[in-house]
Amino acid sequence: MLLFAAIMILILWLIQIVFLEDFYKEIKIDDILSSGEVITESINNNDIDEIIVDISDNYEICVYIMDVQGKPLYSYDVLNNCIIHNMTYRDYSRLYNEAYTSESKQYLERYTIDANAMNEGRHPRARASNIPSMEGMIFASITTLSDGRDALILLNSVISPVEATINTLRVQLTYVTVIFLVLALLTAFIVSRIISKPIININSSAKELAKGNYDIKFNGQGYSEISELSDTLNYTAKELSKVDGLRKELIANVSHDLRTPLTMITGYSEVIRDIPGENTPENIQVIIDESNRLSILVNDLLDISKFESGVQVLNKEKFNLTLSIENIIKRYSKLISHNDYKINFENSSEIFVCADKSKIEQVVYNLINNAITYTGNDNKVVVKQTIKNDIVRIEIIDSGEGIKEEDLNNIWDRYYKVDKTHKRAQVGTGLGLSIVKNILDIHNGRYGVISKVNKGSNFWFELNIEEIVE
Ligand code: ADP
Repeated sequence: MLLFAAIMILILWLIQIVFLEDFYKEIKIDDILSSGEVITESINNNDIDEIIVDISDNYEICVYIMDVQGKPLYSYDVLNNCIIHNMTYRDYSRLYNEAYTSESKQYLERYTIDANAMNEGRHPRARASNIPSMEGMIFASITTLSDGRDALILLNSVISPVEATINTLRVQLTYVTVIFLVLALLTAFIVSRIISKPIININSSAKELAKGNYDIKFNGQGYSEISELSDTLNYTAKELSKVDGLRKELIANVSHDLRTPLTMITGYSEVIRDIPGENTPENIQVIIDESNRLSILVNDLLDISKFESGVQVLNKEKFNLTLSIENIIKRYSKLISHNDYKINFENSSEIFVCADKSKIEQVVYNLINNAITYTGNDNKVVVKQTIKNDIVRIEIIDSGEGIKEEDLNNIWDRYYKVDKTHKRAQVGTGLGLSIVKNILDIHNGRYGVISKVNKGSNFWFELNIEEIVE
């Protein structure tokens, strides 16, 4: 900020003080040259009188035009004791010769009359006047009048001393410099309070967050961007603390979920081994069921960690999605036959898609598994396959208690479980829908859920169709 102010002030000083005189002289030279040219070109115009008056008044230039015999044609004197009006015939003929010998028939002469020379009467032109020391310019040009005679055009302008102006400007600029510096200091102070301080605060809070202190509050008042940043960081801290909480809960759940089936398996195996007659199919079924529970749990955990580390690769192939769903339902029906569940599959044709078969089957399996777990007392689940243009939509519909609106967005998060005490949801790890989401995301498939409390849920996903077999 200070540097910026310093540069601005330096530029001002250079332009206003150091180069002012040079600028002024340049402008004066330009003025006399262009005025001389205008008069030379319009010498034969009817309104030459007006042109001369205009130029003289606007640029403070004296004009004196004479023919070759020295007879004055036009004369306009705006300066006090103008030099071209007070010259000897010798001076006129010298200027005439200078202009005549130049290629452009124009000649510009700069002169300085200094006070001492003037007093001693040494300067030839100074004799004619008693002007104090000053600089000036004489422009001479030769042109032809309409009657064929040559005319000498003389212009005279004086470069007034700018010393006094520069002194005034210097005082002004000193004030401006002081005001500028004070303002710059003030602005720098305010900016550091508004921007730097909140950033320092946010930085130290971020360090705390990095250490695992999720309760830290980010306080960033000031600019809207900074308060937005601190809001985002507060949100991040909240999310991190949520994930951390869920992770801790998952570890607790998983250890509990692993221990329960393991205890059952060990217990039942020992009973079968030690007590004659206990080697019944029912007891062995318990061991099988518990082993299945374990493998579901372990597979889910494995899958989710693979997605999180990004090592999942897609093995895309063209396969019959309709047939796959039918097979899953058949397999599932076998598992749940003793419980009187009904899964209806509604479809009108066989659809082929290009996707990772085992992963899409896992999506269907997870969704059907959830529907069976959460469906209502009618124990019914409907799987629907519909076609729209070149897209197939699979819907898994249950008649259960549905999902509350506030939970709808969260159910896709890993480790998220809505109702931890659901009667049938004992096996759940809160990973099933997160796996579904990950798989459909990497397939660029659309998915979602339509659900209302007590009105059942409709989980759906869509894939591009490769082929339809009617
Ligand atoms: P879980 O292993 O607990 O089933 P999911 O990720 O599959 O984990 O599901 C997350 C949460 O979403 C579940 O705990 C459940 O509360 C809710 N949910 C999933 N599917 C359904 C459904 N069909 N009906 C009602 N709630 C469901």
